[in-house]
Amino acid sequence: MVLIDGKKTSAEIKDEIKKDVAKMIDNDIAAPHLAAVLVGADPASQTYVTAKEKACQNVGITSTIYRYSENTTEEELLKVVDFLNNDPELDGFIVQLPLPKHIDEQKIIEAINPEKDVDGFHPMNVGRMALGLDCFLPATPNGIMEMLKRYNIPTSGKNCVVIGRSHIVGSPMSILMSQKTEPGNATVTLCHSRTENLKDIIAQADIVIAAIGSPHFVTADMVKEGATVIDVGIHRVKSDKTKSGFRLIGDVDFDEVSKKAAHITPVPGGVGPMTIASLLLNTLKSAKQKR
Ligand code: NAD
Repeated sequence: MVLIDGKKTSAEIKDEIKKDVAKMIDNDIAAPHLAAVLVGADPASQTYVTAKEKACQNVGITSTIYRYSENTTEEELLKVVDFLNNDPELDGFIVQLPLPKHIDEQKIIEAINPEKDVDGFHPMNVGRMALGLDCFLPATPNGIMEMLKRYNIPTSGKNCVVIGRSHIVGSPMSILMSQKTEPGNATVTLCHSRTENLKDIIAQADIVIAAIGSPHFVTADMVKEGATVIDVGIHRVKSDKTKSGFRLIGDVDFDEVSKKAAHITPVPGGVGPMTIASLLLNTLKSAKQKR
């Protein structure tokens, strides 16, 4: 079994970004600048935004966090988006999801200038992605594509089963894997909560991409011997083996599935770090396009 090490791969990508940013600065070109908008005090969102800021600092990308209270109105947030759209110093920004319930997330996403939409969630970027045109790809699916590429995992003609159809992971993942690209060219089945005979479908998969949001949903009996298993899920569960009293697990029962899989991503240290690396790549891409 080969462990697909997202931590190591993301470190390699960040190193490449760092060199590119250093070259820009050497040539008197301003470093890329990423902003993150955080509304409310959701602990997971705070952790993600802090991790993104730290990653920016490590590669020389300038980062700014805009923090707003839980009570921020939709109108106020739209004004913030408008301000960031028009900030000439800024190459890209993200609005950390989820937003408080009284704010229409889709409305906010659609207000972001697609040229600064480094999360790749704006319909313009989603549409361009679906057509295989140049765009900002959504970070998590793009991070997975990058891992498949760097680990030389064959995808052409393979059966790929994506479990989960969210707009940020499952759905774009299925599009990217079915495109005429390498990696890609796979025969993709997109499964979701209404899928019948899910176990039979997963059993046929050469590549399983689990983005369900259900701890240890994928068990060893479901997976074909020699499959590649990509675990997108992140769950914080109680543990008496760690100092913090918690540990992170995924949508895949790693200990058992890893005995059958040829390639597998761990949680933590798999897809998560790659998501951040992809966001940095999009920010660098935006900066290069603008300079
Ligand atoms: P989501 O809740 O938006 O979507 C879950 C999908 O799973 C839905 O499409 C649903 O139809 C499907 N599903 C639910 N129950 C199912 C079942 N019994 N059988 C088949 N399909 C079922 O979740 P999401 O935003 O796509 O995230 C999924 C997981 O990935 C979560 O644990 C999330 O925390 C994690 N995540 C991780 C990263 C990362 O960087 N590692 C990024 C985004 C999300």
